[in-house]
Amino acid sequence: MTTTSIPDSPQPTPPETDLPDAPAPRNSSPLATAHSQLATAVEVLGYDSGQHQMLATPRREIHVAVPLRRDDGETVLFHGFRVQHNISRGPGKGGLRYAPGVDIDEVRALAMWMTWKCGIVDLPYGGAKGGVAIDPRDYSTAELERVTRRYTSEIMPMIGPDTDVMAPDMGTDEQTMAWVMDTYSVNRGYTIPAVVTGKPLAVGGSRGRGTATSAGIVHVTAAALEEAGVPLTDVTVAVQGFGKVGSHAAAIFAERGAKVVAVSDQYGGLRNDAGIDVKRLLEHLAATGSVVGFDDAEPLSNVDLLGLEVDVLVPAAVEGVLDEQTAGRVRARWVVEGANGPTTTAGDAILARNGVTVVPDVLANAGGVVVSYFEWVQANQTYWWAEHEIAERLEHRMTSAYGDVSALARRQDLSLRDAALVIGIQRTAEAHRIRGLYP
Ligand code: NAD
Repeated sequence: MTTTSIPDSPQPTPPETDLPDAPAPRNSSPLATAHSQLATAVEVLGYDSGQHQMLATPRREIHVAVPLRRDDGETVLFHGFRVQHNISRGPGKGGLRYAPGVDIDEVRALAMWMTWKCGIVDLPYGGAKGGVAIDPRDYSTAELERVTRRYTSEIMPMIGPDTDVMAPDMGTDEQTMAWVMDTYSVNRGYTIPAVVTGKPLAVGGSRGRGTATSAGIVHVTAAALEEAGVPLTDVTVAVQGFGKVGSHAAAIFAERGAKVVAVSDQYGGLRNDAGIDVKRLLEHLAATGSVVGFDDAEPLSNVDLLGLEVDVLVPAAVEGVLDEQTAGRVRARWVVEGANGPTTTAGDAILARNGVTVVPDVLANAGGVVVSYFEWVQANQTYWWAEHEIAERLEHRMTSAYGDVSALARRQDLSLRDAALVIGIQRTAEAHRIRGLYP
């Protein structure tokens, strides 16, 4: 299915060993971070307060109750959300997250970042995001299927292949997308693969989607290193988060000759200065559900991972991990944001002061939505592309988006984050201007 030898995304199976719970993420509000980033870009662009408000305010939101009949007959209730931040350039596009702390503000922030991200890589989409406040590790597969189907039917009026297209995010996977697609299709009376992306190949998924976000991270890292005259084969990398994004990123970095010296997940981390055998670690993860306990490395805490002396640090877990308390410890020269919103506004300022180059989330992790777009195009055409076409088009889009962002940053003396946001926000505002205001 892929040209690489990387196995499919690891499933979020709970480890059999008695591992401690995740440390609470250092989470200054993602929405505060997103609004502060928008305000900076609006100032650079010179927009007035009406334009600013239009860009800051979600177009539509829904909050739904998601009752679940558990396997033992008990009923429990979850809160679910879907936010369409912007739909001016095309359908809303964005993932579905299952995590215990999900709330409407987190989903609003993630939806806003999706709008800018789709603008930066120039996709004909707006931005959206969904979430259910559930810890998927605590529920059986049958229970997760019922939650997914109930959530889908509750938000059905808002989603569709031309209105709002979902994809996997934290705590969800291609099986989740197959259930969403099936529920939507059964209710409409015919099969509609383009209502979701990140589906299994058997029901219209795209080759390369499972590793696209991670491949994109490595493409933009390589582009950033090239500008500095550093070959990818010369660098050391630490990756926080070993899920769909982090594990494949680590594997692709290793395949392309970089040395992955540290990784972590919510249960803890590992370090081996001689380089971690990522393929073997993936087997350990598949067998135990965690990176913890891997024999060929030393244990390491999540916070210590952030302060390691490496060339490239890839936070690929949760929001807000690089904040005013942790950012000062970073000794990497490049932070490439695999997660959405891993750096707070205060953390960003500290990294900038310390000369750390941050390749921002809205650019660095856009590979997933790029191949989601390819999947949607293939579904609409009912014509499937070969793996190499997808890989080449992804690389082209990521490196050219990096080139545009970097050139603007140099021209206007901006950080890569501000330059990326200026591009994404300007494309959105331009759609507003050209379409005009109805009525
Ligand atoms: P996932 O659920 O597959 O994996 C998350 C990983 O982070 C797991 O290894 C988990 O153990 C770890 N983790 C969770 N809490 C942690 C903590 N407090 N400290 C350290 N590690 C922790 O999720 P994913 O799809 O890999 O998403 C990770 C990030 O990337 C999220 O911010 C998501 O929004 C973003 N993202 C994902 C995609 C995608 O295609 N899946 C695309 C773009 C951005």
